[in-house]
Amino acid sequence: MKNSRLVAGNWKMFTTPEEARTLTSEIVRHQTAFGPVEVALFPPFTSLAAVREIVGKTKIRLGGQNMHFESEGAFTGEVSGQMLKASGCSMVILGHSERRQHFGETDQIINRKLKKALGVGLAPIFCLGETLSERKSGKTFEVLERQLTHGLEGLSFDEIKLVIAYEPVWAIGTGVNATPQQAAEAHRFLREKLAALIGVPITQNLCILYGGSVKAEIAKGLFAEKEIDGALVGSASLKAAEFVEIVKKARI
Ligand code: PEP
Repeated sequence: MKNSRLVAGNWKMFTTPEEARTLTSEIVRHQTAFGPVEVALFPPFTSLAAVREIVGKTKIRLGGQNMHFESEGAFTGEVSGQMLKASGCSMVILGHSERRQHFGETDQIINRKLKKALGVGLAPIFCLGETLSERKSGKTFEVLERQLTHGLEGLSFDEIKLVIAYEPVWAIGTGVNATPQQAAEAHRFLREKLAALIGVPITQNLCILYGGSVKAEIAKGLFAEKEIDGALVGSASLKAAEFVEIVKKARI
């Protein structure tokens, strides 16, 4: 749908600063092969500085994996959007299913975080997706609609400058990926819902990523779908060669 694609690497709770430096250097070594594909890296907070040192002079974007909805305060263990910006980030992942599942993040919390991120000038990757039991019971679209509408509640059309990542929970870290057709169907649904929600056809420019066990070997099939504007890659982004292959396959 978009003219260029985005491939984002979510490193989750992996890499020390030293390991992050090695991984980033390997990825950067291949940057001329990326063509028009935008690349963004999401290391853990403790490795942001190390990655920034290397990507600072490149077009590769840096992002945080999470943030708090307040600017500052007595919230031990949290970081704010302003802190991410000051650490060189231009993006942040919000609503990831691991945060929903293990840290109790609700649609309402994610909504507050999205508002804050957009308010401080970070581009969020807003993740949503159904669980296996929700898919099996035919509730996929109901769940996606709820997550989308509650997540974006109170945001105006002007403010909705975000990337959406459709990440079926059953495909994350499981090695089982959605078929390109399943992903495209969900992306189409999200694009239509968002257009209906904000009442403006901006959704042509809306970037919707697929995430869930993306590997180089399945990337070509996924990117053959025009609804799929890129990928949010977890475990495969920890291997430079594999990640670079996925980026290459995203070239239009
Ligand atoms: C993710 O962390 O967003 C993800 C999709 O992980 P994986 O690629 O490992 O399934």
